[in-house]
Amino acid sequence: MGEKKENLDFFQTTYDCVIENGTVIDPKTELRTIANVAILNGKIAGVTRAPLKAARTIDATGKIVCPGIVDPHSHADGQLFSGYVMASMGVTTIIVGSCGLGPYPVKEFLTGLDETGYPLNTAALTPQSWILREKAGIESPYHQATEKQIRQMAQWAEEDLLNGAIGLSLGLEYAPVTSWDEMAAMAKVAAKYDKVMPIHSRAGGWNSLEATREVIKLQETTGVRVLISHHVYQCGQGMMEESLKIIEKARRQGYEIAVDSGAYCDFACPVGSEVFCEGWQDIYDCTYHDILAGTGKYAGQRLTEETFNEMREQDPDASVTAFVGKPYEVALALKQPYVMMSTDGGFPNLAPGIGHPQTAGTYPKILKDLVRDQDVLTLMDFAKKSSWMPAQLFGLETKGFIGEGADADILIFDLKRVKDNATFPGLGDPMAQPDGIDYVLVAGVPVIDGGEIKKDAKPGKSIFAKTELWKI
Ligand SMILES: [Zn+2]
Repeated sequence: MGEKKENLDFFQTTYDCVIENGTVIDPKTELRTIANVAILNGKIAGVTRAPLKAARTIDATGKIVCPGIVDPHSHADGQLFSGYVMASMGVTTIIVGSCGLGPYPVKEFLTGLDETGYPLNTAALTPQSWILREKAGIESPYHQATEKQIRQMAQWAEEDLLNGAIGLSLGLEYAPVTSWDEMAAMAKVAAKYDKVMPIHSRAGGWNSLEATREVIKLQETTGVRVLISHHVYQCGQGMMEESLKIIEKARRQGYEIAVDSGAYCDFACPVGSEVFCEGWQDIYDCTYHDILAGTGKYAGQRLTEETFNEMREQDPDASVTAFVGKPYEVALALKQPYVMMSTDGGFPNLAPGIGHPQTAGTYPKILKDLVRDQDVLTLMDFAKKSSWMPAQLFGLETKGFIGEGADADILIFDLKRVKDNATFPGLGDPMAQPDGIDYVLVAGVPVIDGGEIKKDAKPGKSIFAKTELWKI
């Protein structure tokens, strides 16, 4: 009787919103069907073929309804502009503080974000390689941490994890002399609480296989769950196939290694970063002309030896794009069943017209190129890799699926029309809104409504991660 009554309630309730007649893709159950999705109080109340009453209905006939995208690798760091740009391509939750760089302490940042409001849900990693190293008084990326500094950083990391950080991130390429002891001390803290450790590995180019092996060794030695960050940026210069083989062998042997990768093989970073260390032209098999300025005096221009050196000296924080990748390796990485999607997008100083197209183009580009046009991925693959897998990895239990009890973070798009419009600076607008992303709901509230960005919508919530001692 109880169950029947509950059913009756379900069909008689007037919902806040019902998404009608869309093709629902649920990566948790692998269900794909045409149905209605009921939303009440920011949650999905159920999925049914029966008609339902609602304060608002969204007609999704002919469109895809899938979980809102969970980006496991963002640098939006609370910046409002980045938040809306990322929402415009279907992102509803971001994990910031990647590459050892980001807001700290995490508790303060997340609390502040809830006070000011934000369009997306945000979780944050404790950023080690830039932020904790700086706090510990380590003079430069070329200075090794002392034993005392390592102990101190491990303690800060532990406090931050206990205060709600969702993991601990490293950006080894940006702190190239990071010792094994420093890395292992950080990994042990994360492992103690079974937190994920996303790692921007030590180097790209010809060093990248060694860098992949180092991450695996860290997993083996400390038991930390590692996430190899933006793999196509690390190994997409001709090393992808070999690197994936190394990872696959390790995974078959039971190593806990996750991988995220994006839609672009050409990466952006500050011109002053350690990526351009001695001999970078050999490492990446490229010249000054392969570097495009994204911000600053030479924005939109390919660099020369003179302008490159000038930027590095006078404007080291300016963003540049390195056109050094092999495009086929984007798909090679993303089609592996264990590789999830990520953007590396958003930036604390992002503004219209500058930056890398990954912030506005990643997911529409994958949908257009790899799902619709090239048939490399199915829609179910897309939903899994863009939402369910990252949600599972980071323990976001109410995200990444379309079903009763899920947060009403939902993406509705038209596969026939979907298209990325973002391009590299100098070639077009890197922040151009994509076509075909019609509705993006965060906790049931539209941030994208009928293709339009709602600039005052701030339904996102900060995610304070639970932290418990991990025991086997
Ligand atoms: Zn990175």
